[in-house]
Amino acid sequence: MCSGEFEEKDLSSLYTRDGIFFILTGPSGVGKTTVIKKLVESDPKIRYSISHTTREKRSGEVGGEDYYFISEEEFERKRSRGEFLEWASVFGDYYGTSREELEEAFESGEDLVLDVDVQGARQIREKSSDERAAYIFLAPPSKRELIDRFDSRNTESPEEKEKRMSVADREMEEVDKFDYLVVNEELEDTMNLIESIVIAERCRVASRK
Ligand code: 5GP
Repeated sequence: MCSGEFEEKDLSSLYTRDGIFFILTGPSGVGKTTVIKKLVESDPKIRYSISHTTREKRSGEVGGEDYYFISEEEFERKRSRGEFLEWASVFGDYYGTSREELEEAFESGEDLVLDVDVQGARQIREKSSDERAAYIFLAPPSKRELIDRFDSRNTESPEEKEKRMSVADREMEEVDKFDYLVVNEELEDTMNLIESIVIAERCRVASRK
């Protein structure tokens, strides 16, 4: 039997929680897009935060699903109005995360997964409190593997590839700023690890309202 004192306490706040931002970062070509697609397919309670970008649409990409593809003028307008929680210039194009979309998800207890580079992760860390977000770094098993994956993806010009590989080296040096490191070797193992992180973060007492 529970004591009367226990029953009288209002514990309702323990049963609701704010939304969590799962920040997934890692070098270009490591497999973030695949991991995110699988995660949102398997977990209906998590949604992909669609970024804005000024880069060209790649073949197979859909506006409003993969990105909001916008002009540099529009990006600048949004940026100057403070509409981005974070934004960065990556490989010569601009990328930004909508502040409003994140706020709404947070308030309604909806979890979001974000694909951002290390600069974006750093800005979110500076601007939002720790319990709001979990920072996951997705790393390749080796540099050689990253180069091979990049070659087989074949969506960028040789100059683009070169640029992305040199940025990858610098990004790998920031791993220690993240909460979790997942090495993407076998996709199934990676998904098990990512899903375990999501479950653990949802159980954190700090994310309760
Ligand atoms: P891609 O052009 O290959 O889709 O993405 C290039 C890089 O931009 C990736 O490292 C990706 O994580 C990053 N990126 C995508 N969206 C955003 C965003 O909204 N903000 C920031 N800071 N980086 C982003």
